[in-house]
Amino acid sequence: MPTIFFDFDSTVCTKESLDEVIALALKEYPEQTGLVERVEQITNQGMNGELDFIESVKARFVICPLNQSHFTLTGEHLKHNLTPGFTEVFAWLKSNDWDIYIVSGGFLSSILPSIKWLGLNPDRLFANRVRCADNGEVLGVDESSLLWTNNGKTKVINYLKDLRKIKGPTILVGDGSNDLAAFAAGAVDHFIGFGGNVVREKVKAGAPHFVKTSEEIISILEKI
Ligand SMILES: [Mg+2]
Repeated sequence: MPTIFFDFDSTVCTKESLDEVIALALKEYPEQTGLVERVEQITNQGMNGELDFIESVKARFVICPLNQSHFTLTGEHLKHNLTPGFTEVFAWLKSNDWDIYIVSGGFLSSILPSIKWLGLNPDRLFANRVRCADNGEVLGVDESSLLWTNNGKTKVINYLKDLRKIKGPTILVGDGSNDLAAFAAGAVDHFIGFGGNVVREKVKAGAPHFVKTSEEIISILEKI
């Protein structure tokens, strides 16, 4: 059985989930103009490989105070912002008996509603977690996660292949330089760079396949 791993932010979803969480939190700080743009700038530096992943998340976490509710409310909003055609990609994968995983450097509670919306079991999602106080105040990141590292996707995919005894062809679909890095490190057999939401030049240059539509993804998968 072939296994497919998807990135979430700017791949399955049109948005960057953490940026949406912070944009929501910033609505409570309307006087702080320019901060949404600052957040996007940090994200792009991270996804282009100019800033390492942990630095990029830490820099965004200090923009303003965050609460667990910002993550859960964003999760409900993001399930309505899935990339056009991806519902069909997931339907195609299920009808062809593919094993599906979502591996994201984003945060669980902001992604889980989309996973359920796509009809996937929550145990198919691997993402980072926030640490919260009893009142929901976000204290930081669960730093014990394999994903809380700069090559986290490589580690999680290798861990999953071992844990779930994954055999047969493996493929990763993603937009970011960290996705391309997991392929380059040998974690998967195939890689599709996805530029339907954002084109990262480094990924476009290095990916064996680079596509912008869901139809192109399916036509590549049909040949695997
Ligand atoms: Mg991404």
